[in-house]
Amino acid sequence: MTMKDFKNVWIFAEAQRGKLSPTAFELLTAGRKLADELGEKLCAVLVGYRVEQFAKELFERGADIVYICDDAALENYLDDVYAKVLADMVAAYKPNKFLLPATNLGRSLSAKTAVFVGTGLTADATEVLINKEDGQLHATRPTFGGNLMATITCAHTRPEMCSLRPMSYEKAPLQAGRTGETVHFAFDPAKHTTLAKFMEFIKSRGDGLDLSEAEIIVAGGRGVGKAEGFELLHKLADRLGGAVAASRAPVDSGWIDYRYQIGLTGRTVKPKLYIACGISGQIQHMAGMSGSDVIVAVNKDPEAPIMKVANYAIEGDLYDVVPAMLEALK
Ligand SMILES: Cc1cc2nc3c(=O)[nH]c(=O)nc-3n(C[C@H](O)[C@H](O)[C@H](O)COP(=O)(O)OP(=O)(O)OC[C@H]3O[C@@H](n4cnc5c(N)ncnc54)[C@H](O)[C@@H]3O)c2cc1C
Repeated sequence: MTMKDFKNVWIFAEAQRGKLSPTAFELLTAGRKLADELGEKLCAVLVGYRVEQFAKELFERGADIVYICDDAALENYLDDVYAKVLADMVAAYKPNKFLLPATNLGRSLSAKTAVFVGTGLTADATEVLINKEDGQLHATRPTFGGNLMATITCAHTRPEMCSLRPMSYEKAPLQAGRTGETVHFAFDPAKHTTLAKFMEFIKSRGDGLDLSEAEIIVAGGRGVGKAEGFELLHKLADRLGGAVAASRAPVDSGWIDYRYQIGLTGRTVKPKLYIACGISGQIQHMAGMSGSDVIVAVNKDPEAPIMKVANYAIEGDLYDVVPAMLEALK
């Protein structure tokens, strides 16, 4: 591997079932900074079926080149097949850095692709920088339960790969009319085989509102005390047009599903308003919500860590405070 042959910053634009994931725009923000510092191009990669339609918006949000592998055989995601396609694209075009989203799909795809390519991957990073001295990618991620931040490098192989946590970067702004170069990559069914077979797509039962896109979140912790307690939080969330979330304690207690968990081992969110009810504010929870614009904490204990970081700290029992909020909102 001659490292000098590898040029340009790639981002994987996840697109499934006719929808482009907004994580692509976050990766374009992160990738743009890297590409500018290196004096290289920013490229987006689309793999799937009928995904070419998304190239326009990728250009308008900063991509200089969009690589597209579009084939009916790629309609349903299978990580073996997608990873082989990506590995072949990497071999053909030799990117220098390659960022993928740390979504469910991206976590599995990035790991497999890195193995097929024979390079290193920093999984689940929250920040990426270029080291000015040698142009290496420095990818930082929480470690030891969020108590330390580790910066990881990949010194000897290219591309340097990294999966980035959703919501770690703002979405790249739209520059209407901006355009770029499109490169098509042919899918070869004989080459991209797999033992896995797609059977059926079953949509998870959501309540309509995507937590990562919610502008207002009402979160409950151990202080909620029981599964039924979340009904009250749902009422407040509904009144505010927001979504409900949780710390890990209620998830572990079986009061609410894991997909609502915010934090180090849950989801990262950046709402305009985060109302934390009965949550103490341990570092692992803060890792997922400290980017919120305004934090309101409702807690019986004035010494709870979250009361120190909250913009508004309300000392009291959530079963008194939340009904009072609902009453006031009437
Ligand atoms: C590797 C690792 C990963 C982790 N990942 C996550 C993660 O992703 N997300 C996460 O949240 N945690 C995570 N944790 C767990 C984390 O360390 C804490 O244990 C957890 O966040 C505590 O949840 P909590 O604040 O709801 O509960 P507690 O810490 O028990 O706090 C409950 C709070 O509720 C208050 N309270 C009680 N009753 C009421 C009431 N009626 N009204 C108002 N306030 C009340 C109490 O004063 C207290 O402050 C992780 C831990 C580890 C080791």
